[in-house]
Amino acid sequence: MIDLYDVTIIGGGPAGLYTAFYSGMRSLKTKLIEARNDLGGVVTHFYPEKTIYDLGGIPGIKGEALVSQLQTQAETFQPRIVKNQTIARMEKQTDGTFKLTSTNGDLHYTRRIILAVGSGTFEVNKLQLEEAADYEETSLFYAVRHPQQFTGKNVVISGGGNGALDWAAELAPICKQVTVVYRGEKFTHALEHNIERMNQYAVQVNFACEVTGLSGENGQLRRITVRDAADQTQQIEADALIVNHGFQFGLGELEQWGMAIENNGILVDQRMETSIKGIFAIGNAALYPQKLYLIAAGFVEGPTAVNSVKHDLDPDAPSQAMVSTHHHFFTEKA
Ligand SMILES: Cc1cc2nc3c(=O)[nH]c(=O)nc-3n(C[C@H](O)[C@H](O)[C@H](O)COP(=O)(O)OP(=O)(O)OC[C@H]3O[C@@H](n4cnc5c(N)ncnc54)[C@H](O)[C@@H]3O)c2cc1C
Repeated sequence: MIDLYDVTIIGGGPAGLYTAFYSGMRSLKTKLIEARNDLGGVVTHFYPEKTIYDLGGIPGIKGEALVSQLQTQAETFQPRIVKNQTIARMEKQTDGTFKLTSTNGDLHYTRRIILAVGSGTFEVNKLQLEEAADYEETSLFYAVRHPQQFTGKNVVISGGGNGALDWAAELAPICKQVTVVYRGEKFTHALEHNIERMNQYAVQVNFACEVTGLSGENGQLRRITVRDAADQTQQIEADALIVNHGFQFGLGELEQWGMAIENNGILVDQRMETSIKGIFAIGNAALYPQKLYLIAAGFVEGPTAVNSVKHDLDPDAPSQAMVSTHHHFFTEKA
């Protein structure tokens, strides 16, 4: 038997999570589907340990703490949350509902779709060395989740963008030595501010170099081989290697759905509806004039999309949810 949802939110980043909460405020039967095995989108993956300062009313909160709170809030009205599923295909049925198919073949049925997919699924650019897999997540990392684990260690950072220099500055005060290995002749992809910040510390920078070999035992790195432009190699003592070579983002098969898309952004109108009726887009996925790429933007766009869905499904319903201070769910709990 088909289990039909009122709304299916695709993407479990900040925008998707908050929208799942608001959808509950509107009593919509809600499902959220996330491609990865954890929630929080780019916050979880790229900056869980960073402090976010530009959310209204929250002077500062660590990325992972924000995600944890968003998750708790999202679960308020017990939506169905599905992880580890990438939605690939969409078919509009003759009755106006949608059938979604994930890359593992699972099917999802829904009356409306809200795309909260950010810039799409993302994969880090991995170090192209055969032995890299032997050290991954033991002493080779593609993201810094727990800076304290590097205390007193020799750390090599491969990369020369903002992410790499940011981590160099962050780790330098607690590490024995931080060395940056960068294939460029100078930092051209990093903000002046990040370069200055890193230069406050005794960080060793090897320009025009790349990592060509790793050695150690049982997953523990001991040395890294680095080759320079003149083909000279040198060994650097290292307890850990952090690789920051950028990421691959992409909407993947969503691009074939037929929605109007510009520069990887899905065009929406004031209702947050895409060019396909019944499909909405919010958060970093949505594009419209004056678009703001901030977490807070998704917190407004999500409810706008949900209210549009509610109106479509029940034209007599109020145009927005009862404010939470007067919402029966919370007042009855108090
Ligand atoms: C380093 C860095 C620092 C930042 N700092 C700040 C800051 O201080 N303040 C601020 O406001 N913003 C900041 N941002 C921006 C902020 O992180 C984004 O605006 C926000 O994460 C967008 O949320 P989202 O939910 O729209 O998308 P995302 O966070 O990108 O989440 C999208 C989710 O959708 C999933 N997904 C994608 N495609 C599919 C699919 N086909 N099927 C299922 N799931 C799918 C992805 O796996 C992902 O989990 C920062 C960004 C970066 C990279």
